[in-house]
Amino acid sequence: MSSTVSSRRSFLQLAGTGLALSGIGLGPATAATAPAARAATAAAGPVLLNFNESPYGPAPAAQAAARGIVAESGRYLFALAGELRDVFARQEGIGAERVRLYPGSSEPLNRAAVVWTSATAGLVVADPTFESLGELAAARGATVVKVPLRADGAHDVRAMVEAAKRINAGLLYLCNPNNPTGSITPADDIAWLLANKPAQTRLLVDEAYLQFSAQRSVIAQVMQRDDLIVLRTFSKLYGMAGLRLGVAAAHPDRLRELASLGDNPLPVTALAAGLASLREPGLVAQRREQNAQVRQATVEWLGKRGFRCVPSEANCFMVDVQRDGAAFTAAMAERGVVIGRSWPIWPQVVRVTVGTEAEMAAFRTAFAAVVGVNE
Ligand code: PLP
Repeated sequence: MSSTVSSRRSFLQLAGTGLALSGIGLGPATAATAPAARAATAAAGPVLLNFNESPYGPAPAAQAAARGIVAESGRYLFALAGELRDVFARQEGIGAERVRLYPGSSEPLNRAAVVWTSATAGLVVADPTFESLGELAAARGATVVKVPLRADGAHDVRAMVEAAKRINAGLLYLCNPNNPTGSITPADDIAWLLANKPAQTRLLVDEAYLQFSAQRSVIAQVMQRDDLIVLRTFSKLYGMAGLRLGVAAAHPDRLRELASLGDNPLPVTALAAGLASLREPGLVAQRREQNAQVRQATVEWLGKRGFRCVPSEANCFMVDVQRDGAAFTAAMAERGVVIGRSWPIWPQVVRVTVGTEAEMAAFRTAFAAVVGVNE
């Protein structure tokens, strides 16, 4: 009981740090409430706002590239993987020897748990955060310390470093922007962490949602450091969750350790679509703005009705629904809107993926009905 109360207090502190949001500074989306948009959504079946997927899918050029390469998929096309790796490395300003492609970022995340955590090398993560790494490390016998996010939604890097020292951590996980909150950990905090963490504790920065935010990547630092691993994915902003493509960037020694668990050629459709995405001018900025606009309009709508959200710079946000999160999620699903779940630390706070304007109009309709407020 008391832990629920203090969790709730920490959530409210966090939510109170500002609904001004992303710094991208976009106004509300007025078309979001159009009845025609709502009707179109209802006809299309349940609205899926649960897995932080892109409602837009791969860019048209990426779809065309994936379709176009199917005829050649009798071959592994290793050179295509090399081309994609080189383009990614050039765009990020890092050496191609520090880039390795995987079928999604789940793969290197899982490998990191296997390679760098054990019964004698623990893991430090935030709470709440994306759980798959911590779950795998715990299942393999590693001590996993969960450090609550700071009141401003950032990772509490000082407490995380203390925890890393205490448990002799092999790995520290920092998700920026964080999933499920979408909250940001400033570059200065990450710099402090890198300067003060124990030498044997590697830092894994998961930038799955970075393209939605106004934050700078830490990826360039893999050129100077051998204890930093940065993950990216094509599943989120590029809309390729079902195609499977991700990147691990690190010192070649760290990449070799990840690769020690074996190789697996990539689907050529993912490679073709990934390359086309990287080469599509303006795609990142356009999708980032679109997402921020719809997210901000939704968060403002919720705020006006007394429901607070953690400030987010991602394609998801968390809202305090002031009642049991699981029951609330079930009630939304009954109305055709499937949202994400709550995390144990905040049982009354649920994660919602940012969909299209029409999907978020359906979300508002269902939300208003479930909690009994005016739409
Ligand atoms: N990292 C974070 C923070 C995520 O939220 C996800 C998926 O939701 C992943 C990694 C894994 O994504 P994928 O394997 O599709 O790249």
